[in-house]
Amino acid sequence: MSTLQNIRWHAGHVSRQAREAQNGHRSFVLWFTGLSGAGKSTLAHRVEELLFRDGCRTYVLDGDNVRHGLCRDLGFSAVDRQENIRRIGEMSKLMADAGLIVITAFISPFRRDRDGIRSLLPAGEFIEVHCDAPLEVCEQRDVKGLYHKARQGAIPEFTGISSPYEAPLAPEIVVHTGRDTLDDCAWQVVRYLAARQLITLSNKEPHA
Ligand code: ADP
Repeated sequence: MSTLQNIRWHAGHVSRQAREAQNGHRSFVLWFTGLSGAGKSTLAHRVEELLFRDGCRTYVLDGDNVRHGLCRDLGFSAVDRQENIRRIGEMSKLMADAGLIVITAFISPFRRDRDGIRSLLPAGEFIEVHCDAPLEVCEQRDVKGLYHKARQGAIPEFTGISSPYEAPLAPEIVVHTGRDTLDDCAWQVVRYLAARQLITLSNKEPHA
């Protein structure tokens, strides 16, 4: 017998809507995906800064950080990557339910895994942002020296080199992080959120 049969979901007395009303913005998951070095982490933190400065309640879940704790038992095989993303998806869902704007920065190379998280969340609350930078640019940046190691065969199943990256087919936002500046990309994301009334902007774009 599945243990799930003995467990019930307990609904609290404070609704998500009440939390959103108190916060003054909607809660949702902003999911950055892209190759290593594409700029997910840099952009996630910049977007968070802009939103936080504007009074939003935000939190960034970052690839390397969760691998130190929540997912430290997992490696980089296809199965482990899938489980890594599944846990982060569940975590994001809980955090969004708590009223936060959850911003995640994971390569999350497989379409099926990202779509799985989309289906966990209420419609419109999974916002997929493709950090679209060419492999050559990411490899040239080689922020953590990982491409160099991967080319030498020292890192098996490295996304873009020896493991595939499946670009989103219909992401809500595409940012060209290999071409545009960090601030241009960050404001593109923030403008999207404001246009869909997920947030209300009081601080205006510096050069708008
Ligand atoms: P990832 O999290 O995707 O592995 P990082 O954010 O760690 O990538 O690194 C991306 C690098 O690219 C950083 O050194 C950052 O300063 C640089 N960069 C240049 N342009 C952009 C941009 N438009 N958006 C994000 N990062 C950028």
